[in-house]
Order: sequence, then structure tokens, then C-alpha cells
Amino acid sequence: MADSPLLNPRTYDPAHFDDETRRLLRATVDWFENRGKRALIDSYNAHAWYGDFLDFAAKRGLFAAFLTPATDGAGDPAKRWDTARNAALSEILGFYGLGYWYTWQVTVLGLGPVWQSDNAAARARAAELLADGHVMAFGLSERSHGADIYSTDLVLTPDSTGGFRANGGKYYIGNGNVAGLVSVFGRRADVEGPDGYVFFAADSRHPAYQLVRNVVNAQMYVSEFRLEDYPVRVEDVLHSGRAAFDAALNTVNVGKFNLCTASIGICEHAMYEAVTHAHNRVLYGRRVTDFPHVRRELTDAYARLVAMKLFSDRAVDYFRSAGPDDRRYLLFNPMTKMKVTTEGEKVVDLMWDVIAAKGFEADTYFDKAAKDIRGLPKLEGTVHVNLALILKFMANYLFQPADHPPVPTRHDAGDDEFLFRQGPARGLGAIRFHDWRTAYDAHAEVPNVARFREQADGLCALLAAHAPDEAQQRDLDFLLALGQLFALVVYGHLILEQAELTGLDRDVLDKIFDVLVRDFSGSATELHGKAATTAEQAVWALAHVRRPIPDPARTARMWERVEALSGAYQMRP
Ligand SMILES: Cc1cc2nc3c(=O)[nH]c(=O)nc-3n(C[C@H](O)[C@H](O)[C@H](O)COP(=O)(O)OP(=O)(O)OC[C@H]3O[C@@H](n4cnc5c(N)ncnc54)[C@H](O)[C@@H]3O)c2cc1C
Repeated sequence: MADSPLLNPRTYDPAHFDDETRRLLRATVDWFENRGKRALIDSYNAHAWYGDFLDFAAKRGLFAAFLTPATDGAGDPAKRWDTARNAALSEILGFYGLGYWYTWQVTVLGLGPVWQSDNAAARARAAELLADGHVMAFGLSERSHGADIYSTDLVLTPDSTGGFRANGGKYYIGNGNVAGLVSVFGRRADVEGPDGYVFFAADSRHPAYQLVRNVVNAQMYVSEFRLEDYPVRVEDVLHSGRAAFDAALNTVNVGKFNLCTASIGICEHAMYEAVTHAHNRVLYGRRVTDFPHVRRELTDAYARLVAMKLFSDRAVDYFRSAGPDDRRYLLFNPMTKMKVTTEGEKVVDLMWDVIAAKGFEADTYFDKAAKDIRGLPKLEGTVHVNLALILKFMANYLFQPADHPPVPTRHDAGDDEFLFRQGPARGLGAIRFHDWRTAYDAHAEVPNVARFREQADGLCALLAAHAPDEAQQRDLDFLLALGQLFALVVYGHLILEQAELTGLDRDVLDKIFDVLVRDFSGSATELHGKAATTAEQAVWALAHVRRPIPDPARTARMWERVEALSGAYQMRP
């Protein structure tokens, strides 16, 4: 039996990283394991703030090492912004719970506008705060405006010193109770339109920063805060005008990548519990895992989870290799956000169907996973927002491939400085991609890859022959249904590339595409049912509902992989 691709704290050793990174990641796992499951569960159930985790992170310089770009790291070789190791840490934190991940995640977001700023004093201050063990916050959202950040009501009025007085509230702001630095987005009272936007650094300990409450019913702190005549000095301003708006979007581009790894970590931990429970539960004299439907559900969950990992790992390479002439990451990023996180929901759903009542028990990790996995598709842009974004790339991706030098696996100790100089968040429709067909061709002998390829080619034929008409192009409900089909082609593409790079077992790859064939069929059926779908499009949709190619021997071998997870990991009590 090949090694399991799932994170297992018992054997975790990220040997592909440099020694210091390896030590810090292992130390994080050890901290959680030594603290034990009882404390993990009790603090979650009691909504207790995880100050002990932040103390550990501060003492080990964890966030300072991972979140200080090399240019701000004063020559410390441990400090760099490295998406590969950030992804590894994000997965570990998700594995132990959404709250630990979230405090790290909003620190990432809070730092985004700072590391994109030319304000050297603010950068130095952020680096110092990180070194002192502080966490950060990102103050973008407001209670009344949701995704519509153009309408911010946090208003800056010029004062006599060249600075401002800031007034207004922010809502849903993580770490807003403790952050050493809060990046706050607002607009000037005296300048109309986009030129009036401002991003500035606030201090949550200042008396004019008023913490109102925790908005959520959870261990993590998602704050409402108000600024009452908060003095914004010239040296606190990070960005002005359109650059402030771009900084907001580019920060979310960097930050939202962590949601996929959080989903993966949550699913991994939940899977150990679920398989172990189901396999050891005996009903009517047989193991629950002897039921064929249970085997199918757990095997599907496993295949979906491995696919999530393959796609996300490969997306890291595109992130790290990005530059002004290669912005393909701008497609793969919303894919990790909407696709991988919704896959995470499916993985947990499948397992919960199997373990049923056990998934409610307060002293399991699973009951927390079942709740928290739902959050990830909804944060930092909903599924709709990210799918609408993905659609902008569809024409070029499917029909206008371009030559790009091959992107290798990127585990090197590089600093991903381009992420902080992404430039204006425009021109997405002009981005070109390498030919998706190459990866599919290379695996054409895998039966379900070939079957899925028929569906993918079919999508191109649909768009060529029966492209959305003008009314359909204005109908986001219709377009989102189409977008789900497109997203599957992109998903399969990077999964195949990563399978090649890692020598993934053929059974697992075939099984993953068995799932994708069924998913494509499901989304085609959905498109078929839309009121806006034309008769020709509806005929196409039904013609592309396909059956995966069954293989009983593969199914049996896949089950052995899943069964091997039973007892493979249990958190230290
Ligand atoms: C636990 C939690 C933590 C958070 N942490 C932070 C934080 O630290 N900092 C911060 O600034 N914010 C934070 N947020 C805010 C969060 O990112 C937003 O709430 C989230 O992006 C969704 O916005 P909304 O719920 O207001 O939905 P809305 O924006 O109100 O959207 C309503 C509906 O309209 C749809 N919609 C909106 N715009 C579009 C579009 N362009 N295309 C298609 N459909 C669209 C949406 O998909 C959704 O279905 C947090 C929220 C929560 C719940």
C-alpha cells in the first residue's frame, strides 16, 4: 500500500522544506498534540479565546517567520513570504480547528495592505509588531455593504496636520479584539469617487478605537468595532485613491488562497475520526464499512479530498511563479476558493451520512468540522462572486491557448514578492493560459480521464455552436450554471498536472475522474433545467450526461486505501 497523501501528525515531516521551516511546522503540530484533544475540544465548546496558541506562536516567532517578506526581514534567513510553506501551515491549523486558522488568516489579510505599501515606517512597524508576537486584522467589511466595498461609510475628514479624523464602523473583523495593527479601508469626506479611497493602519489599543462586540458565536473573535474621531496621522496612511482599492482586492487575492488548505485540513482530521468510527462499529454482526453504500461514500469522500489536495498543491506553483506576464494564478485562485472549499463540504457531508449520530457528539472533532466546513465557501467572496470571476477567463482558457514556459514544483525557499506588487486588478479577460488539452492528452489512457475529456470537448462544442445569447449573458443564474461546467475542466487540468509531477497512483486518478464525470453530468442536468436554457443547449446538456467507467478491481483497491485510515491517527487525549 502506497503512503497516504493525508496529513498525519504521527508521521508528519515536511522534508521538502528548509530545516527551520520544517522545525516550525513540526513544532506547531507538536504543540497541538501535547496540549491534547481534551483542551482542543473544551476550549472550542466553551468559546474560550486561544491565547495559549498565540503565546506559542509568539514564542516560536511563527507568524514573524512566515509572514514577514524578505525585504522587511532585516536579513533574517527564516523570514520570507513563501506560499508553499504558508499553505502547509494553513493546512495544519485547519487540521486542529478553524479558529486557529482564522487568527492566522486575518493576520495575513491585515498585512496585505502594509506589504503593498511604499510607507516604509508602517512596514517597519508591522515587522516589529510581528517580531513581538502580535497578530493583525483586516478592516474592510461593513455591516450594511457586504461585497459592495465601493459604498464604504468609514469616513476620513482632513485635519489641520495633513492627516484625518476617521469615523465609522467595521463589522466581521477577525482579531479586532487584539490586533497590533488593523488595516482599515475608508473614504475621504472631501474627495468624490475612487480617488477618495484610503487604506490606513490603526491600533486596536487606541482609545478612539472602540471594540463593540464579537459578532459570531464561536471561539474566534470576529469583531464589530467603531472609530470615533480616530486620529489618522500622515504616517498611518498606507494607500490613497485607486491604489487603496487595488490593495483591497490584491490582499484578498493573497489571503483567499488559504481557504482551500483550511478546508483540506478540516476534512483530513474529520476523515480519520469518521473512518475509524465506521470501521469499528459493528451492526447486525457486521462492520458498518461492510455496507456497499458506506464503502462508496467513504471512497468518494477520499477521492474528493485527494483531488482537493492535488489541485491546491499545483495552484501553489502558479502562485509562486506569477509575474506581470503570467497572471494565470488569478484563475486558479478563485478556483481554490470556490471549488476546493465546496468540495470540502461534500467530503464532510458524505462522511456525516455514514457516521450519523456520532457526528453530533460534543467531544469529537467531527462536530466542529461539520459546522466550520460550511463557512469557508462563504467568506472572502461567496461562491457566486468567485464563480463570476472565473467566467471572465473561460473564452481564453478554452479557445486561445498560449505558450508559457513549464511551471515546475515550487518548494524552493523563495520569497513571493510579486504578490505585493500585483498592480491594478484589471484586464482579466486578456490573460492567456497554456493548453489544457496537453495534460488531458497525457493521461488519455486512464479510462475516466478519457470519459471526462469527452465532456470537456463537449463544453467547447457547446460554446462554439450555441454560445450564450445576449439575454443569457446578462443572466448570472444561467452563467453560473455554465461556470460550474467550466470550473470542472480547470479542476481536472491541474489535478492531472499534479498527478504527473507526483506520480499519483493510477487507481486514485481514475477514481477522481469517475467522480468528476458524475459531477459534470450533474451540472449538465442543472443547466438543462434552467428556464433560460435554449432547446439546443438543453439537448446538448442531456447528451453530455455520461456514466463513469466502472472497474470492480480498482474499487476494491481504493477501498483498501480508505480502510487503512482506520486507526491511523487519533489525537493525543
Ligand atoms: C466569520 C467571518 C469572518 C469574517 N472576517 C472578515 C475580516 O476579518 N475582515 C473583513 O473585512 N471581512 C470579514 N468578513 C466578511 C466577509 O468576507 C463577507 O461577509 C463575505 O465576503 C460575504 O459578504 P456578505 O455576507 O456580506 O454577502 P453580500 O455581499 O451581502 O452578498 C449577498 C449575496 O449577493 C451575492 N453577490 C454579491 N456581489 C456579487 C457579485 N459581484 N456577483 C455575484 N453575486 C454577488 C453574494 O454571492 C450573496 O449571495 C467575515 C465574515 C464572517 C462571517
